[in-house]
Amino acid sequence: MDLVFFGIQGSGKGTQAKKLAEEFGYDIFEAGGELRKIQATGSELGETVRSYMSAGKLVPLDIIMRVVKEAIESYPADQKILFDGIPRDKDQKSGFNEIMSEVGRDFKCVEIKVNKEACIQRILKRAEIEGREDDADEAVIRKRMSVFEEKTMPVIEEYKSQNKVIEVDGGGKIEEIYDRLKEALNL
Ligand code: AMP
Repeated sequence: MDLVFFGIQGSGKGTQAKKLAEEFGYDIFEAGGELRKIQATGSELGETVRSYMSAGKLVPLDIIMRVVKEAIESYPADQKILFDGIPRDKDQKSGFNEIMSEVGRDFKCVEIKVNKEACIQRILKRAEIEGREDDADEAVIRKRMSVFEEKTMPVIEEYKSQNKVIEVDGGGKIEEIYDRLKEALNL
């Protein structure tokens, strides 16, 4: 069973995803990371991707879905995948569900729930450490958060109505959250 992680920027979702992947043998597909790789090539596509990412907007549907489809199809059936950062709106959800059912992969969702304001300082700190340009500007962070609330929350709600979502309180120390996460997943 694959996992799809949801959480607002700075929720600690990526940290928890890495820990879980390491302990239980998931391969992580990180949408933002894949897009940053494309951006780094400096190609025309990379420049298009940069123009969206630097504004905190979602890159166009055809670009992200091509990247995701290619990745999913490349995984052997017995390799569990942990998706981080996809699907982020209803159109991506439709495309994602379709690709997953085509290749016969099933998934559960995890929502890391946190207080929004507390996330902003965490993200600015991460920008200092990792040098991510889309993390350095508070206005861009707020834009990404509003995209999450307006476009991604409805996706989570739809999955909730299908009982596919496990909610985890993302407050506190990394190890405490991780213990709650494993308990919620019966791991
Ligand atoms: P993240 O690292 O997940 O915060 O993503 C950083 C940026 O990459 C986002 O603000 C978007 O510009 C872009 N991005 C990441 N995932 C997606 C996605 N699924 N669809 C469109 N754009 C995305």
